[in-house]
Amino acid sequence: MKKYNFYSGPAILPQEVFEQASKAVIEYDHIGLSLIEISHRSKEFTQIVDETQQRIKEITGLGDAYKVLFLQGGATQQFCMIPYNLLGESDTASYMDVGAWSKKAIKEARLFGQVHVACSSSDESYTYMPTAFDVPESSRYLHITTNETIQGTQMKSIPNVGCNLIADMSSDIFSRQLNWNQFDMIYAGAQKNLGPSGVTLVIVKESILGKLTRNIPTILDYRVHIKDNSLHNTPSTFGIYVMLLTLRWLQKEGGLAVMEQRNKEKAQLLYDAIDRSPLFTGVARKDSRSDMNVTWTINKPELEDAFNTLAKDNGCIGIKGHRSVGGFRASIYNAMPRAGVELLINLIDDFSKKHG
Ligand SMILES: *Cc1c(COP(=O)(O)O)cnc(C)c1O
Repeated sequence: MKKYNFYSGPAILPQEVFEQASKAVIEYDHIGLSLIEISHRSKEFTQIVDETQQRIKEITGLGDAYKVLFLQGGATQQFCMIPYNLLGESDTASYMDVGAWSKKAIKEARLFGQVHVACSSSDESYTYMPTAFDVPESSRYLHITTNETIQGTQMKSIPNVGCNLIADMSSDIFSRQLNWNQFDMIYAGAQKNLGPSGVTLVIVKESILGKLTRNIPTILDYRVHIKDNSLHNTPSTFGIYVMLLTLRWLQKEGGLAVMEQRNKEKAQLLYDAIDRSPLFTGVARKDSRSDMNVTWTINKPELEDAFNTLAKDNGCIGIKGHRSVGGFRASIYNAMPRAGVELLINLIDDFSKKHG
């Protein structure tokens, strides 16, 4: 039976990407070697890095001022790397406080400098994205989390502030059209919407770097990774290759405009099903609902396990909500086919009819 993976990450990727990646693991491009045994300094691999960077530039329309890096340590490592490189001890950076991930980013930044909380949705258990920002003029940067994966909230507009703008886009990168030029840095762990785990995409405007006097360990210094074109040490070669395959697929399908259209439709269908059910309730406030991670709860908690089992038995894998929120979460990234969402909707409708 075809199963649909609704887990938040590692997550679903296009079927053709799985097929192409598996072939390359056996033999890459008729060279008599597996992709995962070739040197990261080989001609074949440097071409993979170049093409991946090229496609990211095409997708975002960003110019030479921005550098594209493939790092390790996940988005989590960026939580410390960003302030290490950009926040002096007596400097202030502004942070959104909108859920579990932004809280982790704040915790790390406090190790390096002063944190000013620019907005918070803690008053409503992080179920919405604030739209008003208090950013002191002296802020080195504003750190935003465009999509909070656990609560299922997403920023619908990006604030225009007078300082550098840094975005954790781990769970909604390349899911919609954005004015990419308004960001000074964007980062994302690949395993949600871009590829397998093990590689982190960082897009950084080079001019924001090198302003501190602090000594930075070599491996955590963005300037080193720029100079060495992400090949300072051995990168996740397989991860970068699968990211390339995913980006080829994304562009072939029609790029961000098509992704956005499809994602909006899929999410709307699912939210409609939750809203018309007497049994289920959406977690996120309507104006902040994520198109990527749809979260909801059940009004009869004694039936929660039964719905999880029903979903699993019908090929919808991974809809159990994060332990901190409970209920259910369906992650419907770019690669989730509409058929997967429709299958889940049928289950919601049937279960609601029976138990509502
Ligand atoms: C998953 C996630 C992270 C953490 O990513 P890792 O690659 O596991 O470190 C950070 N931020 C957001 C918004 C996420 O969804």
